[in-house]
Amino acid sequence: MGFDDGRKMSGLYHAEVVGTQRVTPHMQRVTFASDDLRELPSHGFDQWFRLFLPHASGTTDFDAVPEKFGLGGYLRYLTAKSGTRPPFRNYTVRELRSHTGELDVDFVIHGDSGIAGPWASGAEPGERVVMLDQGRGFDPLADADFVLLVGDDSALPAVAGILRDLPSDSSGLAIIELGDEADQQELAAPDGFEVHWVTRTGASARPGAGALAEVQRFRPEHPDRLQAYVGGEQAMVAGSRRHLVGAGVPKSRIQFTGYWKVGRAS
Ligand SMILES: Cc1cc2nc3c(=O)[nH]c(=O)nc-3n(C[C@H](O)[C@H](O)[C@H](O)COP(=O)(O)OP(=O)(O)OC[C@H]3O[C@@H](n4cnc5c(N)ncnc54)[C@H](O)[C@@H]3O)c2cc1C
Repeated sequence: MGFDDGRKMSGLYHAEVVGTQRVTPHMQRVTFASDDLRELPSHGFDQWFRLFLPHASGTTDFDAVPEKFGLGGYLRYLTAKSGTRPPFRNYTVRELRSHTGELDVDFVIHGDSGIAGPWASGAEPGERVVMLDQGRGFDPLADADFVLLVGDDSALPAVAGILRDLPSDSSGLAIIELGDEADQQELAAPDGFEVHWVTRTGASARPGAGALAEVQRFRPEHPDRLQAYVGGEQAMVAGSRRHLVGAGVPKSRIQFTGYWKVGRAS
C-alpha cells in the first residue's frame, strides 16, 4: 500500500457531478470528476474533506473558499458575502480513482432538513463543488493485535475505507449501526474481521443507542494492544470512548470523531 501522508492538507480541488446512484435506500452515491481530482493525494482509510456546495440562490462564489481552514482562512470565508458563499459539510472519500480523476462520495439521505443530504438526493450532472483535502484520521498501529471499528450510517464510508486498507493479516470487529437493514453494503475486509450490523428499531430508537450497547458489551482481551476507531452520532461516540477508556484502553489508542449531532445542523 502506498499512501500519502494523511496529515498533510493539500489545498482545493474543483470538481463537478458526473453521476449519481442510490446504492441502498438511504445512501446516495455522487460521483465527481475533474482534472484537479487526478492530483488529489490518496490518503486511504477514512480520508475526508470539506465539501463546499452550490449556494441555494443559484449563484455561488467559490472564490470565497480558503486554501486552508485555519483561523485566518475561516474568518476570510465568514466575511465573504453570505448570499453567494458556498455552504460546506464534511465528507469521506468512498473511492478515489486518480487515473480517471473520479471520486465517489456516499451521502446519508436523512430527510429534508439540512444542506448536504438534500442536495445529494437531487444532485445533477454538471453541478460544481469545491473540496478542501483534510487528510485522514486513522493511522494503523503496528502493535495492535485487535482493531475495533464502530460507526453509524454516516461513518459507513469511513469504516469501509479502513477495512479495505488495513493490512490483510489484521483482525478485529466492526460494529455498524444503520437505520434500515436494507442499507447494508458488501464490505471488503481482512479475513480476521467480523462485521456486526445493528439495526435501529422502533421510531423512537435514538441514533447510536444500538451501537453503543454493543460496544458496552465488548471487553478487550488486551486493552493495551487494542486500536479503536469510533465515528458517528456524537453521544454514541462519547459513550463508546468512555466505555473503552473504562475497560483500560489507553486514550492514545482510540480515535473518535463526532460526525453529527441529533437535532443540530453541522
Ligand atoms: C470527518 C467526517 C466525515 C464524514 N463523512 C460522511 C460521509 O461520508 N457520509 C455522510 O453521509 N456523512 C458524513 N459525515 C457526517 C456529515 O458531515 C453530517 O451528517 C452532516 O451534518 C450532514 O449535513 P446536512 O447538511 O445533510 O445536515 P445538517 O444541516 O448538518 O443537519 C440538519 C439536521 O439533520 C440531522 N442530521 C445530520 N446528519 C444526519 C445523519 N447522518 N443522520 C440523521 N440525521 C442527520 C441533524 O441532526 C440536523 O437535525 C462526516 C462527518 C465528519 C466529521
